[in-house]
Amino acid sequence: MSSLIARNILNLTPYQAGKPIDEVKRELGLKEVIKLASNENPFVSEKVKTAIKQSLNQINRYPEGSCFYLKERLAQRLKLKPQNLLFGNGSDELIDIIIKTLVGIDEEVITAKTTFLEYEIITKVNGRKVKTVPLTNFKYDLEAIKDKINKKTKVIFIANPNNPTGTYLNAKEVERFLKGLPSHLIVVFDEAYNEFVDCADFPDTEKYLFSKNIIILRTFSKVYGLAGLRIGYALARPEFISFMEKARPPFNVNSLAQAGALAALADKNFIFKIRNLILKEKKYLYRALDGLRLDYIPSQANFILIDVKRDTVKIFKEMLKCGVIVRDMAQYGLNTYIRATIGKPSENKRFIEVLKKVVGHRS
Ligand SMILES: *Cc1c(COP(=O)(O)O)cnc(C)c1O
Repeated sequence: MSSLIARNILNLTPYQAGKPIDEVKRELGLKEVIKLASNENPFVSEKVKTAIKQSLNQINRYPEGSCFYLKERLAQRLKLKPQNLLFGNGSDELIDIIIKTLVGIDEEVITAKTTFLEYEIITKVNGRKVKTVPLTNFKYDLEAIKDKINKKTKVIFIANPNNPTGTYLNAKEVERFLKGLPSHLIVVFDEAYNEFVDCADFPDTEKYLFSKNIIILRTFSKVYGLAGLRIGYALARPEFISFMEKARPPFNVNSLAQAGALAALADKNFIFKIRNLILKEKKYLYRALDGLRLDYIPSQANFILIDVKRDTVKIFKEMLKCGVIVRDMAQYGLNTYIRATIGKPSENKRFIEVLKKVVGHRS
């Protein structure tokens, strides 16, 4: 049988998603379960719900293939042209489209070792080679990445802020990195957590869109609260976008996602409230973790990487039994770390209670 499967798929470790709430309830017989495992938004915009309900009576029709209205609206917001935008079935699909469009069969991808695993997995699914470069102090090491570049290097994926560490590359570091790069490759900045950043020196990558070979990825899955609808977007020069358009499936973004994203863009008050809530709760969690004398990595995103100083899988399982789903970091090789999404205030409180119980028990 295995001789029938393509070799690049045969040996692939698939992406492990956060455990769904219903699955945990079913398996452990729990009534109340909170999920802080996938960096989702704990809330949904009421305006988004209304817009989606209104669009329901058109689900018999194929969606607008090009996301025409969304492109217009977002281009206006970003002071760009619709031709600078491409929407995808989540930014996951855009990663795939980028690889298919840009990385030739004998060309290679570079990314960090401890980052969003989809860069590596999707590259391998497409039968392309990927080099991974270790982080330094939990941060992307741009100098080490530069050292790995050769003639075959075509795309470099950089998550900024990085998942799962929450660390970021500042404006100066990005500027220096882009300056010395050869012109035969493209840098992809994945800015899924852009809206949660609260430092003053975060890079404005949009200013490089026309002078450097870069693509920016953003998503509606995080601060906009549409993770279940699957929609993200890429910003790039029209030349890149036009070829990426050729590589995308004709109806890749469904009509409910398009209606939801349009309404989400308009609901600025929701975004404002969520951002403020997450920043406030981040401070609460920092203080609580300090109280538990646990180390964590300061985060520019809606999650925190925490050193529980014990086996991550054990801690994950014990927290699960108490109805709190976090992410164990075993797949990332961070064997004593968990990643916890910042949730609603009540969820964060519960998380700290359970963490205290689970970590306290065993020390
Ligand atoms: C959550 C996340 C995304 C979003 O992916 P979607 O497919 O848009 O849901 C992208 N990149 C990173 C680094 C993420 O953590």
